[in-house]
Amino acid sequence: MAVGAVSKERSDVRGTDGGEWYRDGLRFSCTQCGNCCTGPPGAVWFTEKEGAQMAAAMGLGTRAFKAQYARKLRDGWSLKEHLTEAGYDCVFLDRESQPGKAICGLYDARPRQCRTWPFWPENLRRPEDWERARRTTPCPGMDQGSLVPIDEIRIQRDQTH
Ligand code: SF4
Ligand code: SF4
Repeated sequence: MAVGAVSKERSDVRGTDGGEWYRDGLRFSCTQCGNCCTGPPGAVWFTEKEGAQMAAAMGLGTRAFKAQYARKLRDGWSLKEHLTEAGYDCVFLDRESQPGKAICGLYDARPRQCRTWPFWPENLRRPEDWERARRTTPCPGMDQGSLVPIDEIRIQRDQTH
């Protein structure tokens, strides 16, 4: 998420002056459009612990959960995707329950990658990276709505891979 653009690489997230360019916070309010859960083919990474949590949320054992909803890639486990008119949707993207919305069907147990969007290191490296992520996803929630303070951004940013 944008599933096609996931990077596990940690990046330099400081500005050139040694501080974060987003020190005054960034605006973000999710509109539940689902764009970050679809797009070109990619990966929704999860750890073994997250896999166990998702499996428990589904009432499944980890092995059955992985067999049904996940795939093993070279760098780890990812949720499966399926091709829709919008792109390669995450297997848990629910376009039916709420008209006009695309929501996570496993919201409370979603992996860290999903919980921390859009405050990923690669999106925070420079203002241009934030803008690129906003535009290419596209994520209508970025630069809109609530002001997320720097302390909260750091927590989200530093949880990522
Ligand atoms: S507004 Fe952004 S974060 Fe929310 S679902 Fe859409 S793309 Fe994802
Ligand atoms: S687990 Fe949920 S939030 Fe994460 S990509 Fe899938 S549908 Fe989106």
